[in-house]
Amino acid sequence: MPFYFDSHCHFDFSEFDHDRAALWQQCQDAGIDRLLIPGTEPTQWQRTAKLLDQYDHWLGSAGIHPWWLNQVDAISDDLLKTWYSALDHPRCVAIGECGLDKAINTDFAKQCEFFEAHLRLACERNMPLIIHVRKSHNETLRFLQQYKPPAGGVIHGFSGSIELATNYWQLGFYLGIGGTITYPRANKTRQSVKGLPLEALLIETDAPDMPLMGHQGQRNTPLHVVDVAKTLAELRNEPLEHIAQVTTQNAKTLFQI
Ligand SMILES: [Zn+2]
Repeated sequence: MPFYFDSHCHFDFSEFDHDRAALWQQCQDAGIDRLLIPGTEPTQWQRTAKLLDQYDHWLGSAGIHPWWLNQVDAISDDLLKTWYSALDHPRCVAIGECGLDKAINTDFAKQCEFFEAHLRLACERNMPLIIHVRKSHNETLRFLQQYKPPAGGVIHGFSGSIELATNYWQLGFYLGIGGTITYPRANKTRQSVKGLPLEALLIETDAPDMPLMGHQGQRNTPLHVVDVAKTLAELRNEPLEHIAQVTTQNAKTLFQI
């Protein structure tokens, strides 16, 4: 049986409080062997660390998601101290989720300041980044070219053209592919994942958000990472086992496990 790696799953969210353990059992039965819980804000880092202590096949990251920036005032010494200790957890393998989002009202200068703090940390600690980008690809690419984070990272929930994807891949960034590709209207992204090398792709659910086609309005779960892989296999006309094996290996390479 192939193994799957959900490279982006907010499994710490309260939506899963009532059935997290049962759902994880179902995941394991379906061959989902590992998942990564992205960081969102400082108080969440500690909650995630407790989950990581309970489940040794789960990984985490520590960063401040642009949607949670209103909970943090400045990059203080206290914040950095908390951040360093979160990153010291043996299964905290990346910095993020961080990035730029022009679809929200948060001051863009503040978003850039915090994104740069993540980039500096990634360079300092030689750790990969988990990046969220909406309507800010030019700015994101410029920052990546400027800092050249040595361990690369992933552009999570990627949607866009093959040219855009190639720009990221050439800078050492994988493309995180999720439920978007199950929608026929996402034609551009579907064409991109057909044309990119499989070595450039990770699979993810972004659960509980980003429901797949046919599941709109429902809670997304890490179980659906198998459906993302199936769609990828159909689009690329490659065996599912191959998709599972290569994307799992890609995630292990990126996160250095
Ligand atoms: Zn996310």
